[in-house]
Parts: sequence; structure tokens; C-alpha cells
Amino acid sequence: LTSVMHLILMGEAHTHRFETRYLRRNRKPVWVVMTISLVRDEHDRPKNFIFVIEDISEQKAAEERQRFLAAASARLLSELESNDSIASVARLSTSVVDFCVIEVSVDGRCERHVGHVSQGKLDLLAKLGEELLASNETSELPPRLIFQIAEPESTDTTAGMQSFLRRMGARSGAIVPLSARGRVFGRIVVGTDRDGRSLDQRDLTMTEDLAHRIAFAVDNARLYRESQNAIRARDEFLSIASHELRTPLTPLQIQLQRLVNGKGPASVDEVPKDRLRTALQRSDRQVQRLIALVDNLLDVSQITAGPLKLNRESLDLSELTQDIANRLREEIARAGGSLDVETPGPTFGLWDKLRVEQIFTNLVVNAVKYGAGKPIHVAVAKKRESVIVTVSDNGIGIAEDKLPRIFERFERAVSSHSYGGLGLGLYIVRQLVSAHDGTIDVESKLGEGSKFTVVLPIGDLNSLRPIQGSDAQPVEAHGNG
Ligand code: ADP
Repeated sequence: LTSVMHLILMGEAHTHRFETRYLRRNRKPVWVVMTISLVRDEHDRPKNFIFVIEDISEQKAAEERQRFLAAASARLLSELESNDSIASVARLSTSVVDFCVIEVSVDGRCERHVGHVSQGKLDLLAKLGEELLASNETSELPPRLIFQIAEPESTDTTAGMQSFLRRMGARSGAIVPLSARGRVFGRIVVGTDRDGRSLDQRDLTMTEDLAHRIAFAVDNARLYRESQNAIRARDEFLSIASHELRTPLTPLQIQLQRLVNGKGPASVDEVPKDRLRTALQRSDRQVQRLIALVDNLLDVSQITAGPLKLNRESLDLSELTQDIANRLREEIARAGGSLDVETPGPTFGLWDKLRVEQIFTNLVVNAVKYGAGKPIHVAVAKKRESVIVTVSDNGIGIAEDKLPRIFERFERAVSSHSYGGLGLGLYIVRQLVSAHDGTIDVESKLGEGSKFTVVLPIGDLNSLRPIQGSDAQPVEAHGNG
């Protein structure tokens, strides 16, 4: 101050203005703008100084909050995988509050990041913050409220917060949810413990702003991850699909070339009948395989386009599963396995025949494919208004971590080197089952086999109008199937 006054006396300037920070007697900091002007007498001699002191603490704090929010945004935007950036936002926050705990839950994983002006209190904050956020009562705390230590009106719900503040040696605290696009991702706790300072409404508004920025960053990171996964799955799918579609073509071509080129093009007629039959049967199998693959692709585009249209009719599921089993017996025998079907007699319901055939053919074909040549068991059972069908095998099974995803598009639990396939079968099956208002579940252990359970509601058979006489069958009819 004296040097400034000296400069003015030397005639360098008439007034001088500068910002400075002082500590009040209660150690609370105060920012001021000090303006010093010199007043001279009629002989131009220095007469007295005028000091104007203006408190700009509020303006400074607002600037600080803006600076912090901008820095936090820059940090959050700089990395799409936001864990590290959230940790540094927690540290940065100490420019505006004394401590901060940011809790974020993503994909069922919960992480907490802490920042404290005193490094020595970080561990205590991490411990007490975890206790506070883990207790049920904090989820009931009103979010737009600042908690002051030892509030006389503190109630049961605020007891946890009061105890947290007391053990932290804090004066005040607030808790704010992190939410974006209608989902809650976690919470932020901020507080003050120095300089006799308490949080005010402006701190609360800033914390809410911060919470929005973090929540959007976390949500964007999630969307980015999901889109990356979808792109990866699609690329992988395209290469597998082209490979899968190519695979049946080679044996098909070989069969045809043998017939045509065997003894010269003119002599196709001379190919012995049994050789011709075998070649045609083998060719037909490859064509069937191609048709199945293309049908799968068509089904997926149909399912994605909109709700499936079902042609419901009265069907006996016991008979249908027997038919499917009979049709697949040859293929199962070729794989060295066996299949038994257990039915309780006729089990009628209102279903789309082609779609239900598709559901169970897919499940049995998978049981053959992944069944390691071991016995396969299909069981049909009635339960109140539903029919339950289980398809069990004793094959390779599915790893626990892969189980939740096998009904998703393109998802596979095996490598394409060991087993061909598009990863669409179970996706289609689940969509078809849902279209029938049914459910599908799987139980499986790696190396021990899998059991798929489909529950199909029988539907209102009475609503069926007879087509060509009476087509509807009684639901409870019993017989030998
Ligand atoms: P795809 O068989 O073409 O790969 P699916 O959608 O039919 O596709 O099946 C998805 C994945 O689920 C398969 O890749 C396989 O890893 C697993 N899976 C399906 N059925 C069985 C089963 N019965 N036993 C073991 N794994 C199975």
C-alpha cells in the first residue's frame, strides 16, 4: 500500500485501483477492490488520500465457479471413458468447495471419487462418504437442501447427514443426484469445513450444474461404448455372414461339377441313378442350409422393421414337437446323437404354426450343434394356461458371463473357428416367443450342457372361429399324441 501511495505522491498517477484478498478476523477471506486517490490543495500540494474499498467476494466466487465448471466440462469432454476425468473433476472442485464426493454407477459398477482441500482428510472423506451414500436414508434426503451442522430441526432422515458432517468436522453439506435422460447415475456430496464458510444457494446451483455435466458425460460415454460395440458386432457379423453364406456353396458346386464334368457334359444321363440320387440329396442339404441362413437374415430385417404378424391357429404342440423330432432324426443320427421327446398327450393352443416350428427347430438344431453328440431331451408339459417346452442337451454348455447375451443379435458364446453360425437363431427365437406373449429362459453350465425353457400361453381357444367345420380342439383333451 505504501509503495502505491508513494507512486501517487511522485506524480506517476492520480488514482490507483487494485484487487486484493484479506482475511477477516474470523479468518473468512474477503476479496476487495481498493481505489486510492490523492486530493491536493490549491497550491497543488498533497492534502489527503481517499481510499474506496469495495467488497467483490461474491463476484470473485461467481467467477471462480464459472472457471471451475468450464474446467470440469473441458476435462469431461476430453475423455469419453470418463472415470479418470471424474476423478480429476473431484480434485478440481476444491477451488469452489472444501470437499466433494462423486459417486457414479455405470453398468452395475459403482465408483466413488473424492477431492478435499486438505490432502490429509482424503482417506477419512472416502470412508465417511461411502458410509453416507451406502445408507438407505440418504436416498430419501431432499436434494435441494443444504444441511448445516447441528440444525435444530434435524430429523431422523437427516441424522446420517448430521453424523457425516460432524465426523468430517464440516459446517455444511449438500447432496445432489446425477441424472441424464431420465436416468439416475449417482450422486454428488459437497461441503465446507474451513474459514467459517457455509454453502449457499449459489453453491447448490453450481453443484446441480456440475451434476448435469457429469451425468451427460457418463451417459454419452455409455452411448459411445454401445455404438462402438454395435459397430464391432456388425462388422464381425458381415464377415461371418459372408463366410457362412459361402460355406454351403463349395460342396454344392463340387456335387454339381461331378455330375456335369464326370464323363463329359453329354453324359449326365449316363450317371448311375444311385450316384445321381446321392449327389442331389447332398446338393439339396446345402441348398437347405443356404435357405435357412437367408431366412434368418430376412427374419431379422422383418423383426427390426416392426411387430411380427402372427397367423394363429389351433395347434397341438405335442404333435408338432414330435414332427420336428422326426424330421431332424436323420441329422441327429449323423451327428452321432439321439433325441427323445416326452409329451403329455395333445397340448392345444393358439399359435402361428410356422413360427412355433421355427422356435423349436432352432432350439433342437442348436442342441444338436452344441450337444457334443450326447443325448438330447425335449419335454412338453401343460401348466394352467400355458404350455412349457424344455430342450435339454448334455453338450458344451455356455459360460456364465456369456449367458445374458446369447439372445441378443449377433451374440455368440463360441468362436467362429469352432462353430459356424450367425448368432441370430436365438435372437429370432426370443422375438418369436415374445410375439406369442411367451418367455424363454436358459440354464447352462460350461461343459455340462444347456436347458432352454419356453413358456407359451395357450391363448383364448374359444375365440377361434371354426374354419371348414370345427378346427378348434379342446385344450384339455388327452390322448397319445
Ligand atoms: P449361432 O448358433 O448361429 O451362433 P444362436 O443365436 O442360435 O446363434 O446362438 C447364440 C449362441 O448361443 C451360440 O453361438 C452358442 O454359443 C450359444 N448356444 C446356443 N444354443 C446352445 C446350446 N444348446 N448349447 C451351448 N451353447 C449354445
